[in-house]
Amino acid sequence: MIKGGMKDFLPRQMAAGWLLTACCALYAQPNLHQPSEDQYQQDPHQASQHQLGLQDPQDLQNLQAEVAERPTMVPPFDFPLTLSGNFGELRSNHFHGGLDFKTGGVVGKPVRALADGYISRIRVTNGSGYVLDVHYDNGYHTVNRHLDGFMPAIAQRVEMLQYDSESWEVEIVPEPDEYPVRRGEQIAWSGNTGYSFGPHLHLDLFETESGDYVDPMPFFASKIKDTRAPKASGLMVFPQLGRGVVDGQQKPKAVALDRQTPVQAWGLIGVGIKAYDYMDGVHNHYGVYSVVLEVDGEEVFRSTVDRFSQEENRMINSWTYGSYMKSFVEPGNRLRMLQAANGQRGLICIDEERDYRFVYTLSDVFGNVSKCRFTVRGRKQPVPAVDRLDRSFLAWDRVNVLQDPGFHLVIPRGMLYDDCLLSRSLKTDSGAVAHTYQVSSRPVPLHGAAKLRIALRNRPVEDSTKYYVARVNAKGRKYSVGGRYEDGALVASVRELGTFTVAVDTVPPQITAVGKQQWAKNRKVVFRLKDKETGIVSYRGTIDGEFALFGRPNIVQSVWECKLDEKRWPRRGKHVVELTATDACGNTSVVRETFVW
Ligand SMILES: [Zn+2]
Repeated sequence: MIKGGMKDFLPRQMAAGWLLTACCALYAQPNLHQPSEDQYQQDPHQASQHQLGLQDPQDLQNLQAEVAERPTMVPPFDFPLTLSGNFGELRSNHFHGGLDFKTGGVVGKPVRALADGYISRIRVTNGSGYVLDVHYDNGYHTVNRHLDGFMPAIAQRVEMLQYDSESWEVEIVPEPDEYPVRRGEQIAWSGNTGYSFGPHLHLDLFETESGDYVDPMPFFASKIKDTRAPKASGLMVFPQLGRGVVDGQQKPKAVALDRQTPVQAWGLIGVGIKAYDYMDGVHNHYGVYSVVLEVDGEEVFRSTVDRFSQEENRMINSWTYGSYMKSFVEPGNRLRMLQAANGQRGLICIDEERDYRFVYTLSDVFGNVSKCRFTVRGRKQPVPAVDRLDRSFLAWDRVNVLQDPGFHLVIPRGMLYDDCLLSRSLKTDSGAVAHTYQVSSRPVPLHGAAKLRIALRNRPVEDSTKYYVARVNAKGRKYSVGGRYEDGALVASVRELGTFTVAVDTVPPQITAVGKQQWAKNRKVVFRLKDKETGIVSYRGTIDGEFALFGRPNIVQSVWECKLDEKRWPRRGKHVVELTATDACGNTSVVRETFVW
């Protein structure tokens, strides 16, 4: 029988109704990590131990040294700062590399240089819209994304290049002496371009020497109000393959924070936590700066989200499981922000029939802290062994080759983060272009590419460029992962294991004129482009037979626009616009519209 549980170690006076709050009791430390910039300029050593909320004199010394070394920077905006995203937030396949500053729901706010330096790169991209990199003399450089526009001289140069190269996406790398900037000088206008769901400025900060993404927050901490601590919202227990079980099973087990009875485990397990940080006066939630796990009073693991390199970025897939952060380090994961203290990669060996006390300490950059406590009960139960020779077993530290009739997958060494046992199956359909191969029922992330080859069984279309490798999701929907025809088969690179097959795309993109009556009034020509299967890879527009620059100012909308410029197309009445679009399998559509301007 299971008795007690979390209640066991709660203070006696806590009523059952308070269990949730009690388990994750919050206590805020409103003191800032850093004195305000003005304070700093007067005397960096004036911040007292009391102000900083530090107990240990060594901590104070370290902090003072850190603050004294850190160059000062002005924030990108001159209005009060609020954030819609922080550094290191968990995103799909990457960490959020910078801060997202709110801009009051509008575009067009002047963006300032943080220090003296020069503009080092100018780009227009689909993903981040108008982008400006600034190299600062203080050892840092920034990338400003989703801008509405550049300063006039740069804007003109960009447009010229776009017309010359007949491409919306362009890049300019100026010489250091071409566009010098002074601290506080306007460098651009904030916007909502690229993959952006509302007006904001995304600011990445890099340490120039290492090239690492670093957290810009400490530089602006005195300008941001945050007295709210991070908060846990869920726990997950990860029994290790062939070495541990939780409640009789060897799969990850979610544990609600208000669970009354502890989970029962035996053998080697890891745990993970879902948690978010919060700030004053806004409804957004953010990533958690620091997570420390202690078991029976000993630290076993900590994550400190303060820097990462581009090479490390994808290792987020190893650290996280959905929105849970693991509190152990998988053997192929080299993220420096994760540190295990127990010599077992943060995994815990449950080998006694007793309660193991787990305590999470969550903190933000501002020193606001919360705790989350739970219990795992050691209970002897059989641990199923794993056969390492099983055809579905993959070892993280070697090359793995998977073969089935008409299927060949090579996963090079260094691509897997941990050992895994796949759930492989083969679905055949005599009429299908190829068999459907389930490699894994749950996505298994890879650090880099694995080479996949699937043989064609039927060839309804002669043209071999019309075939593509499709990833099939749980609902049976197909997504293109690209691929090319080679010797009766399709070969493709994949970066995640799942279910794969081959499909045919012979359907050209759909092009539709949008709001044609408004084109003249709004001084822009707008089309909606859609492609069902493989996606649009190229397009070209003309007006009256001359190249016209169409682009996607915001890729959340499937809308392509061309600004009408009187210098290029005089307002003289009737014009003809033509737009051609091609998908990844070479299917092309053309539309022609006439309009009056
Ligand atoms: Zn962002």
